Amino acid sequence: MTDLTGEVTDLLQHLIRNACVNDGTPGSGQEFRSADHLEAYLGTTGMEIEAYEPIAGRRSLVARIEGQDPEAPTVCLMGHTDVVPVSPAGWRRDPFGGELVDGEVWGRGAIDMLNLTASMAVAVRHLARSGFRPRGTLVYFAVADEEAGGHHGAEWITRHHYDAVRSEFVLTESGGIVLPPGRCVTVTTGEKGVAWRRLRVTGTPGHGSMPFASDNALVKAAEVVRRLVAYRPRARVTDTWRAYVEALGLPEATAAGLVDPDRVWDTCASLDDPRFAAMAHACTHMTFSPNVIHGGVKTNVIPDVVDIDVDIRALPGDSADDIARNLDEAVGDLASSVSVSILQQAEATDSPVRTQLWESINRVVPAFVPQASLVPRMTTGGTDARFFREKGAVAYGFGLFSPEVTYEEFASRFHGHDERVDVESLRLSTEMWIALVRDLIG
Ligand SMILES: [Zn+2]
Repeated sequence: MTDLTGEVTDLLQHLIRNACVNDGTPGSGQEFRSADHLEAYLGTTGMEIEAYEPIAGRRSLVARIEGQDPEAPTVCLMGHTDVVPVSPAGWRRDPFGGELVDGEVWGRGAIDMLNLTASMAVAVRHLARSGFRPRGTLVYFAVADEEAGGHHGAEWITRHHYDAVRSEFVLTESGGIVLPPGRCVTVTTGEKGVAWRRLRVTGTPGHGSMPFASDNALVKAAEVVRRLVAYRPRARVTDTWRAYVEALGLPEATAAGLVDPDRVWDTCASLDDPRFAAMAHACTHMTFSPNVIHGGVKTNVIPDVVDIDVDIRALPGDSADDIARNLDEAVGDLASSVSVSILQQAEATDSPVRTQLWESINRVVPAFVPQASLVPRMTTGGTDARFFREKGAVAYGFGLFSPEVTYEEFASRFHGHDERVDVESLRLSTEMWIALVRDLIG
């Protein structure tokens, strides 16, 4: 193990043990513990370090190496320090133990994304200590509250202190997977929009002892849920999806079906791998997932109000009108009993592919994955990259994983049980960040 690999392993173990668990409440997370640890770790390098804490405990850290050439771009390595909660009963190891077992570090955040937050810090510290005097500015941003939407983290800082993190290029989580047979490496260039809606279904209250032909809001809500799940919005095949399918090297008929808007739904239904089917469906459709329902007051009262909360995810280019039209079509003749309100709304975001950052990744990656080419990919979830894309920055999800971390493994460990990462992936990411930063702004 080289010094840097030992360092990143150790740092990741510390970050996992800090257990900055974000359950969505303002008092959770308490990322100041990892921010302090990272500040102490980077503090010996003479880098400029600034901390931001919009509410107690939710501390984010910005460290920078100022560039020599004001014309050269600024690149930001952004890693979040918070993690999602665990169900400990499902784990084979202590989720916050940070144990190193058979070449893997175990614990919540090992994949999402303390592995990268740690490898970015090790790369930045290594560059600073080796007297790196870049043309462009290098920013390291260890950010709080990604897992609850960034209100006390990236959203807050990009709204109130954008100068601290202003960048042309941003690198963060969710890329760097080597697709079998090992020739293509994913770069996440975009993410779907979040359009959470509450559907309030109304009826007429009455006595539960005489239900015949009643106007029961719960019965109508059940039908609304059924229609939402059966609804087939028009499919859309983006250039990103087309390029991704091409890179997978699937049987010709499957590949053709996955990029044909008229056949993609049925092709998804015919796939053997349910996880890939769900991803393929989500990458080509606006999705509707009714996930919360509240209604009724008493067992003997026919309910007059039921709320259904629907997690809707929109593709790049889908407007609020498109969402409303799809909901209308899905609900059909029940529309007069349903009113829709917005719970959360964030547009899908997308960075272009042919950029200086892309070219730089393309030059650097073959040193780690021989003969590899890059393939763009859209993530169906949300990341802090969107706040930077909204500011006009090019933001990609990257990192570099060993072939052991397949897309399926990656996806199942994300927020799942037994989250862990192999030390080889930590080594690859750390060395790749150093090479990439040198190539891009050195
Ligand atoms: Zn994450």
